[in-house]
This record gives sequence, C-alpha cells and structure tokens, in this order.
Amino acid sequence: MKLRVALTTTDLSSLEHKQTLISSPSGMEIQIENEQRVKTIALLPGQSVRISPDGESMSVFITGHGRFKAARLVAGPRKASDSFFIDSVKRARANGQQRAEYRGHELDVNAAGGKLRLILVLDLEHYLTGVLESEVPASYHIEALKAQAVAARTYALNPRISHEKDNADVCDSYLCCQYFAGHKSVTSARHQQAIEATSGEILKYGTRAILALFSSNAGGYTSNYEDCFSDPKTNIFPPASIPYLKAVPEKLSPAEKNSAGETEARLKEVWHSNNHATFDSWSPHFKWSVHIPAHSLEAHMHHELSLLLKDQETAPFVIPAESGKFGHINKFSVTKRGVSGVAIELTIHTSTGEWQIRKELVIRNAFKNSDIKLARLKSAKIFFEHQHDHLGLLSSLTVKGLGWGHGVGLQQTGAQGMALAGKHYRDILSHYFTNAQIYRIGS
Ligand SMILES: [Zn+2]
Repeated sequence: MKLRVALTTTDLSSLEHKQTLISSPSGMEIQIENEQRVKTIALLPGQSVRISPDGESMSVFITGHGRFKAARLVAGPRKASDSFFIDSVKRARANGQQRAEYRGHELDVNAAGGKLRLILVLDLEHYLTGVLESEVPASYHIEALKAQAVAARTYALNPRISHEKDNADVCDSYLCCQYFAGHKSVTSARHQQAIEATSGEILKYGTRAILALFSSNAGGYTSNYEDCFSDPKTNIFPPASIPYLKAVPEKLSPAEKNSAGETEARLKEVWHSNNHATFDSWSPHFKWSVHIPAHSLEAHMHHELSLLLKDQETAPFVIPAESGKFGHINKFSVTKRGVSGVAIELTIHTSTGEWQIRKELVIRNAFKNSDIKLARLKSAKIFFEHQHDHLGLLSSLTVKGLGWGHGVGLQQTGAQGMALAGKHYRDILSHYFTNAQIYRIGS
C-alpha cells in the first residue's frame, strides 16, 4: 500500500516551499513533465536538481543538463537502498539540524500559487520505519514499540486533519500528524522488528479505523479527546466525544482504586509527591515547572494573545475582557478542568478585567516567551504559584505541570512503563484505546 506524505518546511509549520535542492550520493532518475511530454534524465552522483516556482509551473536546473520548464517533476531512486537529500529542508538528528535524508522512495514536486509542494510516495510499512525512528527510542521495550507501530499505522490511515486538499494522505510534522523525519542511514533492527511483528495490524472501533492519537507523557492520567481538541471540520469546542478516546488513570497496581478525577488539589498532590508510582512517572517529562518574572510575562502574553486573536483557527478560543484591554496581571486560575486535570479554560485576572483562554494547545501557546526560550508549555495539566512584591503586586509566576503533549490516546512513556511491567502490546493498546479492536488491513 502506497502512502503520499507531504513534506513541511524546516520549522514543520508549512507545506509551501520557496525553492528546493535535491541531490543523491548514488544518483537518481528524474522525470520532468511539461505539456503532456515526459523527459527522463539520469542524475549522476554529485549532480543536483534546483527547483524554483514560476507561477503555476516550475523552473528546474540540473547540473550538466541545463534549465527546463516543468509542470511536475518526479525524482526516484535507482535502487530501493539508495538515499537522497533535500538540502532546503533541515531535520533534527542526534548531532543537530541536518539536511533531510530519505531512502528508497519517490519525490513528487509541483507548484501552485508561486510555491512548491513536495510529496514523498512510499510504502506504508517503509513510512512506519521512519515514524518509529522519529517518534520513539530504539531502546524502548519491544512491546511498547509494537504498540506504537500499530497506533502509527492506524494514524496514517485516518489522520485527524484530512490532507486530501494537499493531494496527500498525511504530512510529516508532529504539530499536525505524526513525525516522519526521514530514514536513518542504518535502519534500527528493533523498530523494524516491531513493525514486522505487527505487520498490517490496525485498530478499529466498529468497522472504521480509529483516530489513533498519541503523545509523549500524560502526567499520570490520559485525557478525554473532547477536553483537548476542537472538531477538525467545524472548529467547534468541545467537539462530540469519541468513545475510544477516554481518560484513563495510569496506576501500576491494578488493586488500587481509580481516583474519581484529578482536581487541582489532586494535581498538586501528584506533583509534590515523591513516591507517586504510575506507568509514566519514570519519565523526566512527568513533572516540570517554569518560572516567569511578571514584567516579562505581561509583555509576552499580551503580544501572544493579540497574535492568537488574529489567527482564525485560534481566535474563537481567546475571549478578551469587556474593556478589550490587557492590564497588569493579578493572578491566573484554571476555571474548567477535564477529568484528567487538564485545563479546559484558563482565566487571567488583570487590572482591566478578566481574559479567558480555552483549549489545551491554545492555553499552552499563550505562555510563549522568548526571554526564557519557551515555545509553549509542555502540557496544560497545570497549576500556578503566584509570588508578590511588598506592595502585594504580582512579581513572578511559577507554572507547575504534569506531562508532555496533549495526553490523549496512547502515551509513549506510559506504554514503555506498561511493557516493563510485563504487559503485551495488545494490553497496552486496549488500555489507551477503550474497546478498540486489532484487525489486519483488508480484513
Ligand atoms: Zn498533517
């Protein structure tokens, strides 16, 4: 089964590329399509292809061959083991940002509106190797890797946001779909083993592939889908609930009773406890804190909220004070939480009235602050400690939180904890995806 994977820019946020440069140490076959004619050029090792948009078509320059006009360009390897580089896209590797490397598949390039679109065409199982290499360490227990393989395969078939309009099935960014940073030059044997042992297996609820969301660490309690996401088609929040994406606690001992729900008091208790044992509490991302001086907090938050209000995706989730002004911050309070403790609504009490922010990712993004190099809070499972000066005014804020990511569905560190406790990948998947069943594709 072939999958079309749209490549994002280096910051993982856009599918529109200004230009691109492709090269391969082993050579490639390049097909240039223009007005129904196809020209095939063998690219030798050391030669490269530079592509720039030219209105609705492209200008292609190939070393040793010259310049061509193209409506579409398809670059393919000569052998399945050959890799190629896209020099214009950088991806994080162990030793820092490097040019993106892909192996054994085709690259389909076309232009629209003066921008390029880059789409990889590859086998689903081959794509999964890249996803697992990008998403989970090979040192993880094989049962945790197998659970991730089934979730990632299912996600590829049913992503949360449809990429039909982009002429693709998924994109390669974890900000939207699941992370696919290309292939390592040597495939990890354990990742490969996890994919082969679960070959073709996906999760279904009823007759349909499920929305197999996953994140890194859920801070002791996964979250309900409707507490974190808006409807992908209408942007309505909260959306209809999804029966298999239910909040589940992460207790190690099955004899221990589940708490009725983690309220703020419970979050604080978990954060401050040194012996709170859950499947995911071994992770360094289980708990964290951020300290922000009030002057920096006010300036950056005011700026971020104005940006969030300008973006039509996020604007409905930022409700300004009646005065419309963002005054001095007095305090923060979470005015609505999900059963897991995740903040659904945050109220900012300012000298000019109360501002409200709703929805997990919007709340996290509101705290973006370059002074402390913070892109967003690690999660929205948060509570606050306010520090005041001698006049009683806010002098700084400490945000304390549990987990990393949205915490809906499978969590990778929890899957690892369950696998180490002797759980099979099928047990792990049924823990995170309530009542979903494993099927083989096509059955
Ligand atoms: Zn996507």
